[in-house]
Amino acid sequence: GVTERVALVTGANKGIGLEIARQLARAGVIVLLGARDRGRASAAVHALAQQGLTAQAVQLDLEDEASIAAAAASIAAEHGRLDILVNNAGIVDAEDGPPSAASIAAVRKIVNTNFVGTLAVTQAMLPLLRRSPAARIVNLSSSLGSLTLNGDPSSPYYSARLIGYNASKAALNMLTVQLAEELRDTPIVVTSVSPGYVKTDLTGHQGFLTAEDGARLPVQHALRGADAVSGRFVEASGDTPW
Ligand code: NDP
Repeated sequence: GVTERVALVTGANKGIGLEIARQLARAGVIVLLGARDRGRASAAVHALAQQGLTAQAVQLDLEDEASIAAAAASIAAEHGRLDILVNNAGIVDAEDGPPSAASIAAVRKIVNTNFVGTLAVTQAMLPLLRRSPAARIVNLSSSLGSLTLNGDPSSPYYSARLIGYNASKAALNMLTVQLAEELRDTPIVVTSVSPGYVKTDLTGHQGFLTAEDGARLPVQHALRGADAVSGRFVEASGDTPW
């Protein structure tokens, strides 16, 4: 018989991550709702339950290796594998800025969370993903992480200078490229997704898309079938330049 897929979404207590969790639950996936704060995790699980959707809270802080190891151990014990990992958790910082002026402490924190933390989660979950017949890893990246667009004077991203955030997403894209290559002889597909400009706390509710809309492309790639190509960087209109 067909077994339900198991998905872990990091930073799923609000914003795009919560909408990804909702849409995956609606698609019949067993959703593990990752959040660094247990209270916020259970509030989100409760909100989904009120819509008739089931999710399980998993405490997971990208900055805390013990919480990452504990999450992997509990998923192994309860499910024995992971089919979908959505690396969604991420931060910005008001002290980020152009290379000449960004706060070094802010840059360190952003890169540590968005890149190093995501790498740590991915490493911890990889043994579980290897047990899936067709695992998918979706990394929530950004066009701000595109080296090509940052260097193109005709691009709107040319003057969007946030060295910490942009570098963290460029580094995340490097993870997508290198992991896809490393896993090329496995069924695991790794994708960087740029969701568009989405109204969430992270953008101060600026943006063109609702969180529900912003979740669509990540979910599409999380559920993608045998036609999925690993090591791509995609936005709604298609492939986007690295
Ligand atoms: P939100 O600020 O709404 O949500 C971010 C989520 O990440 C929250 O659940 C937050 O938890 C969690 N988080 C932050 N730090 C950690 C940590 N150390 N460990 C675990 N979880 C953590 O942001 P968005 O929904 O807008 O962003 C989601 C992803 O999409 C991010 O990676 C972002 O960079 C990316 N993105 C967003 C765009 C947009 O326009 N909004 C555009 C391009 C990319 P808590 O509630 O505890 O703070």
